[in-house]
Amino acid sequence: MQFSPEDEEFRGRLRDWLAANVPPELRGAGGPGREHEAFAERLAWNRRLAAAGWTCLGWPAEHGGHDESLARQVIFHEEYARSDAPALVTVVGEELLGPTLIAFGTPEQKRRFLPPIAAVEELWCQGYSEPGAGSDLASVSTTAVPVGEEWVITGQKVWTSLAHVADWCFVLARTTPGSRRSAGLSYLLVPMRQAGITVRPITQLTGTSEFNEVFFDGARTPIGNIVGEPGDGWRIAMATLEFERGVAMLGKQVGFRRELGDLAAAARRTGAAADPLLRDRLARAWIGLEVMRAYALDTLGEQADEGLANKGAEASVLKVLWSRWHRDLGELAMDVHGAASMVDSDDAWQRLFLFSRADTIYGGSDEIQRNIIATRALRLPRPARP
Ligand SMILES: Cc1cc2nc3c(=O)[nH]c(=O)nc-3n(C[C@H](O)[C@H](O)[C@H](O)COP(=O)(O)OP(=O)(O)OC[C@H]3O[C@@H](n4cnc5c(N)ncnc54)[C@H](O)[C@@H]3O)c2cc1C
Repeated sequence: MQFSPEDEEFRGRLRDWLAANVPPELRGAGGPGREHEAFAERLAWNRRLAAAGWTCLGWPAEHGGHDESLARQVIFHEEYARSDAPALVTVVGEELLGPTLIAFGTPEQKRRFLPPIAAVEELWCQGYSEPGAGSDLASVSTTAVPVGEEWVITGQKVWTSLAHVADWCFVLARTTPGSRRSAGLSYLLVPMRQAGITVRPITQLTGTSEFNEVFFDGARTPIGNIVGEPGDGWRIAMATLEFERGVAMLGKQVGFRRELGDLAAAARRTGAAADPLLRDRLARAWIGLEVMRAYALDTLGEQADEGLANKGAEASVLKVLWSRWHRDLGELAMDVHGAASMVDSDDAWQRLFLFSRADTIYGGSDEIQRNIIATRALRLPRPARP
């Protein structure tokens, strides 16, 4: 991917704006395992960012976006991470649902749902996983039945990130009674703040609750809040996952660069840098990051040329690369800091270590990504279902 002189000018403008506007007290807030930090302040910051025109850069202008090229979206993520600005609260809406609606939504849905995401007026969560449906997502058993002008939804979702602060949830539900597996599922847009929905936080390893159980007990949504046709939800849901595993990771890997830089600085400060094994692992981490960035820019660039979102095996390769890299970084951070990090539960490195255990699970586990790579890239036969 090449950056033109105009792109570099864009970078300069953004860098100046961030330097002048990131609130000093929010620098670095809300990183991995620290989603709970200063949520209201980060929401207000995210709205300021939107008002200044720095959200949803790649979306069409008619839907609240800015029609910016992929190169400029990359620049945004790079500069955002470099500025140490706080973690964004809009990721699910901006990077998962938004692109899905742009690709598959009706004109009315785009008009209704996209501008409030771009303005950070409505937050979203992702209602896929259930107690009996994780990797095997096609086992979803939450049902939705049409009653008059509404869908009535009954069932349970689990591990739903940020459901406790979300205004809306995109829910994968079974709308064809008696259907099996991926047939008969639909993709519904459901308001969270209603009597039929109960959200129960789950305490994570970090001691905080970034995700939740969500119970649907006769929850309702208007009949028009379905993306695609009834029964076509699987196709739409898979497209959302490809967005999740693809472009959305750009922001992550730039944040990783900052974490690695901070860790190298800590290794210099604590003397850990003198340990040849730790030096070796730090250097390997740097190489891994370069590989990840090159692969991301290469595959995203190609797909942008083809007018496609990141897709299929490439998205899975990227997911495996970044998730394992970040999990290893968590372990390295603990080794660089030694015993102190183990006992101080407020330690940011300890939180990173604990939360990074989740990286190889959410958005589809590493084993599932390898199955996708084996099937799509290597054309191996599909694995037998246990
Ligand atoms: C921090 C975090 C946030 C999350 N946020 C959300 C969210 O917002 N919304 C949402 O819907 N979900 C969310 N999830 C859920 C996530 O998508 C699931 O945890 C994930 O898909 C795995 O499903 P599972 O937990 O049911 O594990 P299982 O599917 O039970 O898997 C258990 C183990 O078996 C392995 N395995 C399973 N099937 C196979 C197979 N066919 N071949 C080889 N190995 C296999 C898996 O890789 C895993 O190691 C989140 C999870 C985490 C950890």
